[in-house]
Amino acid sequence: MASIQGFEDLVLPELKLRAGGDALRVVNALDDEDPSRAEVFAEIPDASGSDVDAIVDGAFAALKAPAWRDLIPLQREALLHRFADAIQADLPRLAALEALDAGKPISMAETIDIPATVGWLRAYAGWPSKIQGRAGMLAATPGGHHVYTRREPVGVVAAITPWNFPLVLSMWKIAPALAAGCTVVLKPAPETSLSALRLAELAIEAGLPVGVLSVVTGGGEVGARLASHPKIAKVAFTGSTRTGQSVLAASVPDLKRVTLELGGKSPSIICKDADLSKAIPEAAFGCFFNAGQVCYAGTRLYAHRSVYEEALAGLAATAAALPLGVSSDRGAQLGPLISRRQYERVSGFVDRAIASGIQRHGDAPAVPDHGYFYPPTVLRDVPTDAEIAREEVFGPVLAVTPFDDINEAISMANDSDYGLAAHIWTRDLGTAHRASAALEAGTVFVNCILAADPAFPFGGMKRSGIGRENGPDVLDAYLESKSVVMALP
Ligand code: NAD
Repeated sequence: MASIQGFEDLVLPELKLRAGGDALRVVNALDDEDPSRAEVFAEIPDASGSDVDAIVDGAFAALKAPAWRDLIPLQREALLHRFADAIQADLPRLAALEALDAGKPISMAETIDIPATVGWLRAYAGWPSKIQGRAGMLAATPGGHHVYTRREPVGVVAAITPWNFPLVLSMWKIAPALAAGCTVVLKPAPETSLSALRLAELAIEAGLPVGVLSVVTGGGEVGARLASHPKIAKVAFTGSTRTGQSVLAASVPDLKRVTLELGGKSPSIICKDADLSKAIPEAAFGCFFNAGQVCYAGTRLYAHRSVYEEALAGLAATAAALPLGVSSDRGAQLGPLISRRQYERVSGFVDRAIASGIQRHGDAPAVPDHGYFYPPTVLRDVPTDAEIAREEVFGPVLAVTPFDDINEAISMANDSDYGLAAHIWTRDLGTAHRASAALEAGTVFVNCILAADPAFPFGGMKRSGIGRENGPDVLDAYLESKSVVMALP
């Protein structure tokens, strides 16, 4: 095994691999690679089918007795806040695990990933005492009946997550599910499972009953077994559109509840009246942040022809100035791609675009000669039917195209299989509101990028998903309404 350069004091030797509070029987293991150095540094358990069954059984038992779902709401709130306290106290180690595993700069893990994980948990920790049904009388029948609704947890939730923001995206599911009284089995991506395993330990240390939050690790087969498991009532999935389709297909026999947060090819529009000093660097960062491995990254940019060359020059200059570095480098803003497979996928898209005659704007910045670093890349005059303008690349590659009229820009923006996010920079309020209504996207960002918050819903139209996470409405995804109709004597 390679050494854990830069993180020796914080992680691993003492990291016990656990699931649901009990040591997982590690029969098979998967290599865990540090993307900054392209070296294997750890192993994670590759759960067998019977491991998955045992963990789901534990989550099912925890739902019923001692009943997590029937705890007094304020007790559940107190436990969730203690869990948030434990994550907060463990921030240095969790950030180190996340940085090592995902290849993201340690400062980003410390200031964004782990604080957001705590923030999401705290936001939903306050909900158990506010979940209420309604009471009333029958509207169509004269008197004699009292009716009320109960809001009950759907049951055991499988949370299946990707590798780009491992803990945050897991907490988007875990926090509302636990607040609703569900129990959760988390299946993180095999590339980034270490922080999830540590999270399961922290849940136990914080006093959550065994089985309320369990972690099972492995690859797609483990995810598929969970997605089709008869004791799983709901699957909350984030990942690629293709895998999301198979999760949805697997839900059919049991009619499982499913929410899908999937891929994107989100457009950005820079209008002629935009504040370019803000729009250009933000549009660049909105594409290149996290090495472009962001589901709602603005990867197609439409700039008004009157500001087109200025925008291109600024985008290329921003790309060239972003410091790349290994995850322990505190000066780095961008890390590597997650894996060799992802590196080959991203470089394949760019190579095919260049071979088809599309031009790069600006020189490619130098990248470290080890690890899976890919330079932020600006491509100009990209035809709207080009592969690079239509397919999700999931890397730091921006396809730029000019427009003459805002309606043309909106129609190019909407000409996509995806509908996760859209961005527009303009000083004109009328343009902002009209475009926000016309753009086919789950979230429209006006003069800003990359905001996500427990306060507002997030999710996709078209092939970007089904359902919404975040906001108060996400609780509906983890609750069933039950009507009680009572005849009065
Ligand atoms: P992926 O679909 O390959 O894997 C996601 C998860 O699903 C992993 O845990 C994986 O092991 C598991 N999995 C694989 N096959 C499965 C199956 N048949 N049944 C059940 N689970 C299975 O995605 P990825 O490569 O890890 O992540 C990148 C993708 O995620 C991109 O398409 C990106 O856009 C998307 N994403 C979306 C959002 C969002 O909120 N919309 C956020 C982040 C990433």
